Amino acid sequence: MKLSAHFYLSEFTQSQTATRLMLDNTPGRAEIAALKLLCEKVLEPVRENYGRPVIISSGYRSPAVNRALYGSRDSQHGKGEAADFEIAGISNLRICQWMERSLNYDQLILEFYEPGVAASGWVHVSYREPFRNEERTARRVLRSGRRSTEYVEGIVG
Ligand SMILES: [Zn+2]
Repeated sequence: MKLSAHFYLSEFTQSQTATRLMLDNTPGRAEIAALKLLCEKVLEPVRENYGRPVIISSGYRSPAVNRALYGSRDSQHGKGEAADFEIAGISNLRICQWMERSLNYDQLILEFYEPGVAASGWVHVSYREPFRNEERTARRVLRSGRRSTEYVEGIVG
């Protein structure tokens, strides 16, 4: 099933976690509609700008898959509104900076990018209307000896 000119639903539903644990990861009609909007408004323009495939690492997450991943209950992945992606050979920081200048989205997060390491981390983006055009950077930090995630405002390299 095609969501837009260059994206197929299967790219957004494949999940190693779902396969490994034999969990259903089939989106409903509302989630498919949300994924289409995400493709048309955000992912197609990104693909067009770089002229390279956008590789989806995580798209839709059913409640069962989200639980298995210990994801937050209100994650936009569960609504079909969000995707994590990368583009081979292009820094995730650069992608976020271009998106910030050029596109509308709900939330854009530069996730776990390490300065100077182009392939590190990934881009999380969500779309819905009305959109917020909100940017965040997620980093792994050590807090009293335990790894946790810290979010800062904006796209920070
Ligand atoms: Zn994500």
